Amino acid sequence: MAVPVARLTRIAVLSLHTSPLASLGSSKAGGMNYYVRRIAEQLGAGGVAVDVFTRRDAPATPEVVLIAPGARLVHVAAGPAEPLENEPMIPFTAQFAAGVEAFRAREALRYDLLHSHYWLSVEAGDELARAWGTPHLAMFHTLGEVKLRARASEREPKQRLEAERRLVHCVDRIVAASEHERQLLRQMFRVPPQCVTVIPLGVDLERFQPRDAAVARAALALPAGERVLLAVGRMEPLKGFDIIVRALAQMTQRERVRLLLVGGDERAAAEFARLRAIAQEEGVAGRVHFLGAIPHERLAVYYNAADVVVAPSFYESFGLVALEAMASGVPVVASRVGGLVSTIADGRTGYLVPWRCPEPFAEKIDLLLSNEALRRALGAAARQSVQQYAWAHVATALRALYELVLEQAETGAATPAAAPGGQ
Ligand code: UDP
Repeated sequence: MAVPVARLTRIAVLSLHTSPLASLGSSKAGGMNYYVRRIAEQLGAGGVAVDVFTRRDAPATPEVVLIAPGARLVHVAAGPAEPLENEPMIPFTAQFAAGVEAFRAREALRYDLLHSHYWLSVEAGDELARAWGTPHLAMFHTLGEVKLRARASEREPKQRLEAERRLVHCVDRIVAASEHERQLLRQMFRVPPQCVTVIPLGVDLERFQPRDAAVARAALALPAGERVLLAVGRMEPLKGFDIIVRALAQMTQRERVRLLLVGGDERAAAEFARLRAIAQEEGVAGRVHFLGAIPHERLAVYYNAADVVVAPSFYESFGLVALEAMASGVPVVASRVGGLVSTIADGRTGYLVPWRCPEPFAEKIDLLLSNEALRRALGAAARQSVQQYAWAHVATALRALYELVLEQAETGAATPAAAPGGQ
């Protein structure tokens, strides 16, 4: 007798440390926030009720906010109702879990499964999933151990490293953003590959599309006759923006190039100061422009104004910025790390260069700026290659995985050797 397909009606998503509605580009909100929001919207529109839970970080925030039809954001009291760094949140995971359970009980809801993002949520979700008897899926985004290996001066609390090592074996399924992450989980923590499903993040192909660069530059009041390099991201050392500032100093065309750095707010003052000092030291201070965080809905024009987008990160678990540039038809020169290796085809849709080295960045950017036909060809191929990352596809893959995990839980079946999509 055929096994009935499990019906997915309502899920709980935990995003304890950061809200999917936070404005992007500060030191705290980026790819994960955007991902959680877009997936909630897509699943909600597809008829799955989604409750995303996050920690309340301001006293006046209403308990429940609508993200989109079918998708709600629930603010849970856990620790002081004020913004906190990640480490001081560690003692509040149990209180957060209790708050989620109190909300569920009060609303008399039953969640089919739980999907937790980042280790603090996975810690809280571990308790909840056991109490509810539901499957637990986790996405760790960047792991502490990986950050430490990627950049020597990174510091991570011991609790995080220990918890991640333990939690990767407690959940029913890990969703990894790239094949590289699945390999890391196997090598570092001996997580069997069949317990990890690779589902990439997505890109808004309408918002980000090729448009006239001259029009974009005029809209941004950029001077004619200059070439534009763009880097976008949370202003933190792991993003490697120092590498691109140093690369700029080595470029043969540096006198005609303007580097736009998008991202960061007042909390990133130390990183801004560090980058400004490097620009000064390298003699390119006048060519580097710090624009601060720019709302996602206003970012497209920056990509359209750019000749080349750079992603010099020490590590990226996926790298949405590269995908957004590619969707805009702009070639990316990126570090050969993490998820960037899965989205950029070296020499065809952009360039992947060894991490930590300004020289190869300078060389590839000079090459693209001096060969317009090559730059356009790579940009066109990049746009072509990102069609598969439409958010609707990503949500469909995730939903298929949810249904599979649910079905396995209901039938007591073991994790199959291959997940949907053959990954
Ligand atoms: N972003 C933004 N405004 C900014 C800086 C970043 O909207 O000022 C967005 C960016 O467009 C991307 C996300 O934040 O969608 C960053 O995601 P990515 O995967 O590149 O980096 P992460 O934050 O996950 O490390």
